[in-house]
Amino acid sequence: MQEQLNANQQEALAGLEQVQDDDGLQRWKVAYLGRSAPLMQTFDKLGTLPKAERPLIGRRANEVKQALEGAYADKAESLRQAALQRSLQTERLDVTLSGRSMPRGRIHPTTQTLRDLNRTFAEMGFQVYRSREVESDEYNFQLLNFPLNHPAREMQDSYYLDTGRTPGENPIMFRTHTSPGQIRAMREYAAENPENPPPIRIVLPGMCARYEQITSRSEMQFNQLEGLAVGEYITFGDLKGTLSDFARRFFGQAVRTRFRASHFPFTEPSAEMDVECFVCGGTGCAVCKRSGWLEILGCGMVHPVVLQNGGYDPRRYTGYAFGMGPERITMLRHRIDDIRYFWANDLRFLEQF
Ligand SMILES: [Zn+2]
Repeated sequence: MQEQLNANQQEALAGLEQVQDDDGLQRWKVAYLGRSAPLMQTFDKLGTLPKAERPLIGRRANEVKQALEGAYADKAESLRQAALQRSLQTERLDVTLSGRSMPRGRIHPTTQTLRDLNRTFAEMGFQVYRSREVESDEYNFQLLNFPLNHPAREMQDSYYLDTGRTPGENPIMFRTHTSPGQIRAMREYAAENPENPPPIRIVLPGMCARYEQITSRSEMQFNQLEGLAVGEYITFGDLKGTLSDFARRFFGQAVRTRFRASHFPFTEPSAEMDVECFVCGGTGCAVCKRSGWLEILGCGMVHPVVLQNGGYDPRRYTGYAFGMGPERITMLRHRIDDIRYFWANDLRFLEQF
């Protein structure tokens, strides 16, 4: 009996040496310390042994049991340590490695130009007035002196919303220019004091859309920056002085400007302002098409009908308005030769600004 126990202990400890993982350990435990393990059956058999042998065998069986339990605990601990070491090795975190940086975005070139324009006009006392992008035909055309079927509408092929209305019933559209904001601003200012409407000095930036064929020079979506000044005794001289001052502030103190007669339905008289080509300094280059001048904006004195529609009595009030294309100005500034880059979302283009 004693020898059996000794042999059992040796076999068990040798078996434990071979155990590699938790599953093996559990199987070992069942085999050597489980209810049907030979050692445990020894305890069951104690009662059948001769009285003289019982204490000796019982003590020896207990020694073996304690030895096996101790060895089992040691093995379990060493397996746990080994697993921990493995996970520390495989899931190693190198805290000395620098983090992954988030690519940083930047302001779109048109937005940069718009902000520069807003800032320049703000320095000159103009406020920024935000007007809606979705307009009615009435605001986009009729109140700005473009009657239905007026030929000037041909210049602004429009996107209308399919609202089920017929064209004669003031359809809803994407604005083709920022000018409807003139009417909205005048009516809002005039509502403050209809008898004596306050003077206005605002710029209206924002997105417009026209049903254009998309080419390197024209897009179906583009920004405009509109300006409006209304008050008593405002003359064409104020218009010229203000816009020339703007050109010097924006393009450089030495820049020269010139005004050419033009036509817009909502201004009378109307003009276009050119600035001396800042690429060649006026000597003629590809950007200015050898003319030495760059066309920058359209302008004019607010048409009496438009003043009237805005709630300002044209017998007492006058005003001027102007409009320019921030994309076009950005193209001139950075010598960009294709307007389609602005909406193509090509990072190779956008990251240059
Ligand atoms: Zn030039």
